[in-house]
Amino acid sequence: MQQLMALGASAFEWREISEPRLLAPADAIVRPLAVSICDADVLYMRGAFRRRDPFCFGHEFVAEVVELGEDVAGFAIGDRVAVAFLIACGSCLACRRGLPAACTTIDAKAAYGFGIFGDWGGALCDRVRVPYANYMMALLPPGVSPAAAASVGDNLSDAFRCVAEGLEEQPGAPVLVVAGGGGTPSIGLYAATLAIALGSEQVDYLDSDPARLALAESLGATAIERASAPGRVGSYPVTADTSGDPSGAWLGTALRSTAAYGRCTSCGVFHGSAPVPLGAMYDRGVRFTVGWGNPQTHMAKVLALLASAPGMLDSIHTVAPWVEAIDRLAQPPTKLILARPEAMPVSAPVFRPVSDVDDPGEFDRLLPGRMER
Ligand SMILES: [Zn+2]
Ligand SMILES: [Zn+2]
Repeated sequence: MQQLMALGASAFEWREISEPRLLAPADAIVRPLAVSICDADVLYMRGAFRRRDPFCFGHEFVAEVVELGEDVAGFAIGDRVAVAFLIACGSCLACRRGLPAACTTIDAKAAYGFGIFGDWGGALCDRVRVPYANYMMALLPPGVSPAAAASVGDNLSDAFRCVAEGLEEQPGAPVLVVAGGGGTPSIGLYAATLAIALGSEQVDYLDSDPARLALAESLGATAIERASAPGRVGSYPVTADTSGDPSGAWLGTALRSTAAYGRCTSCGVFHGSAPVPLGAMYDRGVRFTVGWGNPQTHMAKVLALLASAPGMLDSIHTVAPWVEAIDRLAQPPTKLILARPEAMPVSAPVFRPVSDVDDPGEFDRLLPGRMER
């Protein structure tokens, strides 16, 4: 089968590799239909991480079920499912607490498509083995397309956790999304969109990039433009650092802009130390969350939100044909989604009111299948 391999920061190649097969009764084999490029993939392609050996690329995906082990229940062959990028068992104490990133059965970070978290394969291929499939997969609701849901197993669930917990605690509360320098370009826009969908009365979006700021405005957020990280931009019960900035500069803005006993969540990746404004946090009792997301805990809720407004993310997404993967990865847009032909969005049919049509022949051409007069 074909698998897209990452050979270096911006070098990709389709290679023939052997197909996975069921190894345990709880496994499923799926065929990816739509794969989105994770914000962490973008960081990798910019050379932000250490060099890795060639690896199977892609980890955010929706797939159709091809084969099921005998212990997998509630799914059928042909079902379309969102798959969590993070491998976890679903039955250990950590998983039962909703923390699959701390799964003790797997005992180390395990994920598709990174090349450094185990040999689980990548999503840009013809078949993927899904262990612990009952826990790892979530059924797409009717009306939700594979492309719209492609990142539910990672970035979209990450955006959700950045705002949902705070809004559950304080329904309607104002939210600040600190997208900062755009290190992780899609999660900030996702977080702003989801905060609006979850009922926040005011969503402010802080970024340095004019195009993303304009997009955030069109999604219903209020744009705040700053070229570099400001000290503080206000006081918000819920703040999210989606900047992906390992220096912690934009994180500092989010923390200092969190209201008394508010919640600040960062979905950034930090390896070294970063300055944290502990005094400002202490004064206001800021509750701060950082670390890997736990997609299995959020996927069903995110899919239900998508089902309530299936087109809500369309303006953030650029959906491109699967076969164009290598060309499209050379200059990735804000959120690239690679889709197989059957998962490509159908473009809307041309519709014009009859009164606008002068030439009756043209009217016939606009309505294929119309009977000849
Ligand atoms: Zn990811
Ligand atoms: Zn577990």
